[in-house]
Amino acid sequence: MNLDSQFRVAQGMCRQLAGVLAAIVARLSSHRQLILSRMVDVVRANRCVLCHGRGHHDCLCVACSADLPWLTSACQRCARPLSTPAEQCSDCADAPPPWQRAQALFTFRFPIDRLVAALKYHSRLVLADYFGQRLADCIDPDALPDVIVPVPIHGKRLRQRGYNQTLLLARIMAKRLQRPVAVHDLVRVRDTRMQKSLHADERRANLVGAFIWHGPPLHHQHVLLVDDVLTSGATAEAISQCLLAAGAQRVDLVVIARTLA
Ligand SMILES: [Zn+2]
Ligand SMILES: [Zn+2]
Repeated sequence: MNLDSQFRVAQGMCRQLAGVLAAIVARLSSHRQLILSRMVDVVRANRCVLCHGRGHHDCLCVACSADLPWLTSACQRCARPLSTPAEQCSDCADAPPPWQRAQALFTFRFPIDRLVAALKYHSRLVLADYFGQRLADCIDPDALPDVIVPVPIHGKRLRQRGYNQTLLLARIMAKRLQRPVAVHDLVRVRDTRMQKSLHADERRANLVGAFIWHGPPLHHQHVLLVDDVLTSGATAEAISQCLLAAGAQRVDLVVIARTLA
């Protein structure tokens, strides 16, 4: 058997092993899921998650990465896609959000919607590394935050899922930017699971008192809030108000994707 055939056999075995591990992961407790999903990611390493092409340093190949719906023109205040970039859109001029600046890597459409779901619900943790590195890239090195705060999930959901995807993103960004992460300081005290089905006003009402800052006062600090998707902005708004009340001077927001609405 020549080298190429041996490689193909080994590759087939790795693919089968990844499939078996993924099936096992689905039946385990959340903590074990997390450990095993990392093993699955290791086995799948060097394969693009979209085209399955092999031999890539990242989990997406250069071509698939370039084809993603990158958000290149947006309102700097709310990250809403615009035909030409602007400091603020008309909505932000009428009612400015409590944060200063919002940045999104992508518009929330295919295949980003699938990739975010894979990270969030299916333990594809290699995607946290891909997105986290690119979120770090978009931070102005001359205006680094004092602290990075991931949007927390409720304890009940954390126990079910085994991880908070925004904390994974925040940790990767923190390592790159050499900034601390507030891991436990912001707490989601109410599980607002039905948020998706609510209108913007209902979302805001649903989030009143949902977050509490338990950390030390944020005296005049510049806080960077990290979330996966920005839709109505109700969650980021509630958290920004909570952080400002805790003493923060400025809150900025970064997300993987911005919905088009
Ligand atoms: Zn690819
Ligand atoms: Zn705007």
